[in-house]
Amino acid sequence: MDFRYHYTDEQETFRTEVRDYLSANIPEDMRSPVDARLSLTQEQYKFWRVMHQQLAAKGWMYPTYPAEYGGGGLSGDHETIIMEEFERAGVVRDFTNALCLPTLMVWANEEQKHQFLTPLLKCEKVAFQNFSEPEAGSDLASLQSRAERDGDDWIITGTKTWVSGHGDPDWLFGPIVTDQDAPRHRNLGYFMIPSPAEGLSIQRLDLLTGHDQQFIFMDHVRVAGDHLIGGDHQGWQVAQSTLEIEHGGRGVAFPKDEPLENLIDYVETASNGEGALAEDPVVQQLAMEAVIDSQINALFQRRNYHLYQAREEMTYHGSQSSLWRKTFNMTNADRAREIMGMYSMTGVDEPTAPYKGQPEVYQRGSLVGAHPGGTIEIQKVIIARRMGISRTKERAAATPSTTGATGV
Ligand SMILES: Cc1cc2nc3c(=O)[nH]c(=O)nc-3n(C[C@H](O)[C@H](O)[C@H](O)COP(=O)(O)OP(=O)(O)OC[C@H]3O[C@@H](n4cnc5c(N)ncnc54)[C@H](O)[C@@H]3O)c2cc1C
Repeated sequence: MDFRYHYTDEQETFRTEVRDYLSANIPEDMRSPVDARLSLTQEQYKFWRVMHQQLAAKGWMYPTYPAEYGGGGLSGDHETIIMEEFERAGVVRDFTNALCLPTLMVWANEEQKHQFLTPLLKCEKVAFQNFSEPEAGSDLASLQSRAERDGDDWIITGTKTWVSGHGDPDWLFGPIVTDQDAPRHRNLGYFMIPSPAEGLSIQRLDLLTGHDQQFIFMDHVRVAGDHLIGGDHQGWQVAQSTLEIEHGGRGVAFPKDEPLENLIDYVETASNGEGALAEDPVVQQLAMEAVIDSQINALFQRRNYHLYQAREEMTYHGSQSSLWRKTFNMTNADRAREIMGMYSMTGVDEPTAPYKGQPEVYQRGSLVGAHPGGTIEIQKVIIARRMGISRTKERAAATPSTTGATGV
């Protein structure tokens, strides 16, 4: 029986169009480097800022978003094909943290959609996620940064940390305390803070995975009233829309697992001194477990992508896929270390590194990747609440899928 998905002739014609464009316009030396967080050069960054705009103009950067706001107005099938071809061509991801886009679709008013969403979908502007603080990570509701009214404007003071992004942002999106006397969850507003701005400074952080995270210091930063998304005290609900997507609620159109592909290739081609690695029953067992866990991850992500596009009700599904992704990546990195030995720790600068050092990038990335968007423990808490087996019960947050917004 043939279980493969077959594209229609029309879809294959579209694929050819995308592939031809990418192969004609992306030079070999501009392809995404193995360790994009460490080795993207200034020249590559500038190239991709322009190329993202060109791809957005064709509707391929954000295919399913409405064309009236700068999206592609295309279907989920188109997005899947585009993602496959982007992967093949080594397209570098947009520098905007795309988590704010569904949030703007749900919560921004019409003017704000044109003001913020459109330039982001067209890749003319870049936005970073401004959520975590030194004293508020897993317990996000304990935020301390505060915004005070000054006429129509807000004056914002506080510190954010771990804010991810490459290059300079135009906006920083996230929740800030707007009422210091109100109870938790009812005391926040969600702002698009402009950058650069007087009183705002950014300091890079050096992590195991590179220097794409930063501190944001805000000292009496003046922000116009129309940069508040949602009501003065609706920031918690608005932030939940961002987090719903970050936890995996939109799924992934084309879940690719390059570390696994490399690991299997290594097993099939390397020897251990006594014979082919693939003949070793311990290696066989480890490799098979790695494949199964990766396939489960892909199934969760594809399932969520389908549920989201079909506007089906979702509860625990996003956090379930996040929990699995974070866990299996660490387990598969362990398996890669057992199979490849020291080769799995050979960095991108080493000429002998297999797969240009990608396995070593995976070793670091799988560990650091367990934190962004809520740790493994936090995903478990959310799953329990959504399944109704916790002290508190909760529903999934509003997304373009569930609110019926056009384009998901
Ligand atoms: C690479 C990277 C990129 C990031 N990018 C961004 C970004 O772009 N924007 C942004 O705003 N933030 C970002 N973050 C921050 C991320 O969201 C936080 O690191 C995460 O929410 C955890 O918060 P914390 O680091 O303060 O850890 P803590 O909240 O202090 O947690 C420490 C440990 O305690 C556990 N723990 C905490 N509370 C509970 C509980 N109730 N039950 C059980 N266990 C618990 C946690 O699971 C964790 O293991 C990033 C982080 C990393 C590492």
